[in-house]
Amino acid sequence: MEKLQAFDLVLFGGTGDLAMRKLLPALYRRFIAGQFPAEARVVGVARGDLTRDAYRAQVEASCRNHAVDGFDVAQWVAFAERLHYVRADGARPDSFGDLVQFLRGREAFTRIFFLSTAPTLFAGICDQIGSAGLATSLSRVVLEKPLGQDLTSASQINAHVGAIFSEPQIFRIDHYLGKEAVQNLLALRFGNALFEPLWRRGRIRHVQITVAETLGVETRGPFYDQTGALRDMVQNHLLQLLCIIAMEPPATSDADAMRDEKLKVLRALRPIAGRDVLNKTVRGQYKAGAAVGKPVVAYLDETGVPADSTTETFVAIKAEIDTWRWAGVPFYLRTGKRLQEKLSEIVITFEDVPHSIFDAEARSQSPNRLTIALQPKDSITLTILAKNPGETMRLKPVNLSLDLADSFKTRQLDAYERLLTDIIKGNLTLFMRRDELDAAWRWIDPIREGWQQYDGPPKLYTAGSWGPAAANSMISRDGFSWNGET
Ligand code: NAP
Repeated sequence: MEKLQAFDLVLFGGTGDLAMRKLLPALYRRFIAGQFPAEARVVGVARGDLTRDAYRAQVEASCRNHAVDGFDVAQWVAFAERLHYVRADGARPDSFGDLVQFLRGREAFTRIFFLSTAPTLFAGICDQIGSAGLATSLSRVVLEKPLGQDLTSASQINAHVGAIFSEPQIFRIDHYLGKEAVQNLLALRFGNALFEPLWRRGRIRHVQITVAETLGVETRGPFYDQTGALRDMVQNHLLQLLCIIAMEPPATSDADAMRDEKLKVLRALRPIAGRDVLNKTVRGQYKAGAAVGKPVVAYLDETGVPADSTTETFVAIKAEIDTWRWAGVPFYLRTGKRLQEKLSEIVITFEDVPHSIFDAEARSQSPNRLTIALQPKDSITLTILAKNPGETMRLKPVNLSLDLADSFKTRQLDAYERLLTDIIKGNLTLFMRRDELDAAWRWIDPIREGWQQYDGPPKLYTAGSWGPAAANSMISRDGFSWNGET
């Protein structure tokens, strides 16, 4: 395992949910894998008055809870030696004195400022990093999503961050891009010649991207109510998946070559504005129902959600890409909370045969499909038609399936493990560039404006269903149905 260069990782929001559940356990696993050099340190930063020991006890509990290959006490003791805690307030100017002290004399090491706090603090934290003189030429800043609420607020944050850090020092996280399955999508598309001739209009009928959750808003009601599914999921995760499916082959796997191609896709998305939202989008909100067999309350009864909220917990969109490759191929996007299953998948449906030699009884209505599952399992399935065994000729869909975890028999890196090592190495490929983010907001903002101007309240759906009936009507108007539903 390749050792990383020496670093200080300054984790703002080091006591928060994301840090405890994902980031610190991921760092601990990379430590166990032997990737930490002797000089590496991790320092949690927050406002709380915690001793180093108290902080280490919190992190230990969370690393125990999120251990993947068991918890190793000796390794933990060694990791804890690298773990520190410093108090600072990102919203109060001149509160970084202790952090300055902590980092003094370490200018020769890679310095990573990971901002795992509310995005409203990003500008203030960067201003203080700048005024305290902490940004060195070897520094990087990592920004958790959501980056702003719209193009205007995202631009303001980016301007503050950009005043202290240059673009190659800025790592905007979309943790979906760190998933092994997303990497596999790149391998499938650009490592195999097989699919390329088929990867276009005339061969592909439509594409569906679904990211479904069974969870509700849990403890994050106030945050979610200000955000909604369009900004929380579509603006980043679903659009990034769409880009990887639709992008032209880049000349190299270099970060900017990849990001240039993704940007072209975002810029070619046909705008959905004004009354278009009524035909090309559906927004929904869950009412009481059941999640994984247990009764659950309506969104409006969740803690921290106003009783008259019109925030969407579900979105379906028909996206179109105006390029030679994709003209006329709809990309149906769908995401929501409290849906029937936890599922992330991309389904590519190919054109049907131009003429069937089989009689009506033998035929099947199933066109070929390529299903790339990201969750719950990382798998690739090609659905083809074969003859059903027996006397008569009857075609039936069968699956050629590749379970990636099973095939390689090695533990897959968690998305944050991969992203954190990439950040430390300075590899920007899996992070969003500012122009990509701006282009995504430019496409998203008119949808929200259209909803405000022309759409009624969100369509209600029962928790535990697949969303509002209107999402089915939207796709069936084109003669299709959502994968798994007929
Ligand atoms: P959280 O649980 O509310 O934690 C916030 C952290 O920020 C705490 O450590 C808090 O500690 C610290 N903090 C708050 N105000 C501060 C200030 N003025 N100065 C310095 N530190 C301050 O939030 P989270 O769920 O971890 O989310 C963090 C970020 O990640 C957010 O942008 C969120 O949208 C994003 N995100 C979270 C998840 C997730 O699963 N949780 C997933 C994707 C993205 P003190 O109060 O002690 O200061």
